[in-house]
Amino acid sequence: MVANMVAEAAATPFDLRGKSVYVAGHRGMVGGALVRRLRKEGVEAVTAARSELDLTDQAAVNRWFAANRPQVVFLAAAKVGGIHANNTLRGEFIYENLIVAANVIHAAHVNGAEKLLFLGSSCIYPRLAAQPLREDSLLTGPLEPTNEPYAIAKIAGIKMAEAYRSQYGSDFISVMPTNLYGPGDNYHPEYSHVVAALIRRFHEAKLAGAPEVVVWGTGTPRREFLYVDDMADACVHLMKTYSGADLINIGTGEDISIAEFATVVAATVGYDGRIVYDTSKPDGTPRKLLDVGRLAALGWRASTPLAEGMKLAYQAFLERGE
Ligand code: GDP
Repeated sequence: MVANMVAEAAATPFDLRGKSVYVAGHRGMVGGALVRRLRKEGVEAVTAARSELDLTDQAAVNRWFAANRPQVVFLAAAKVGGIHANNTLRGEFIYENLIVAANVIHAAHVNGAEKLLFLGSSCIYPRLAAQPLREDSLLTGPLEPTNEPYAIAKIAGIKMAEAYRSQYGSDFISVMPTNLYGPGDNYHPEYSHVVAALIRRFHEAKLAGAPEVVVWGTGTPRREFLYVDDMADACVHLMKTYSGADLINIGTGEDISIAEFATVVAATVGYDGRIVYDTSKPDGTPRKLLDVGRLAALGWRASTPLAEGMKLAYQAFLERGE
């Protein structure tokens, strides 16, 4: 199947230059990286500020698409957050992610977009699926409960892109990124993902001369971390070279335990105190390493090693304006 996919990709090169390319969610970490990456491609992405276009408003989305008629859509708009946000803001996560996906995918179809890339997430795979997670493990078992509402909304988006491809012949593709980090991340102390949370916590502990830093959970879960500019590069690569109903995982193919990762953060920030664990906080899914075989067969590999990406992410944290 991988060989067929490569042949299909080679037969359908898709040129972005000269096209009107809409990045939905350009203020987010991934959308921002996509806008940066598209510039290198000679493409100035079309964006719409939240005050100009509320993606949860179906009539507004339909009007905006009819007026702007983007030829290419990167759907990177989503309500995202770390394990605590996913677990507690469950209603907001399912509602906003469902409605944004439904509104944008449908409007892209109605207004004749040539191609759309939908961003899912590795949390769509069953909690206990075989590792590394293959794309075909989707819907083979129960989801991780802490992020089930988010995952269900993302699965709905994937299935919508797939259904529009099958009924209308729309060239809509879906990609599943692993845990992402980098410039533009959200450093909220409770609602952020682990990378941003620990960069901030270790940095503040260093400044305060604190003897210890608290890391949530047991430290045993394993996660795979991809630098967001690599993610944007993979998305542009797939937009140009891949067309198919099959999902494509985007990751590095390597994971690390949260405990090991905490030592990477400490080294990056220059903190040498103790690391302690708050086991009253959830671990979430034990492991979610992506199988990146399809992506590799399509000619893409991650290029930013974790230690280097973390230096860049810490720099971006220090330079962020708040
Ligand atoms: P997940 O990959 O969807 O579980 O999202 P997160 O990035 O929020 O969490 C990844 C792992 O890091 C989980 O096992 C968390 O318990 C752990 N973790 C450790 N410390 C923190 C923290 O301060 N914030 C978050 N969000 N996660 C943490």
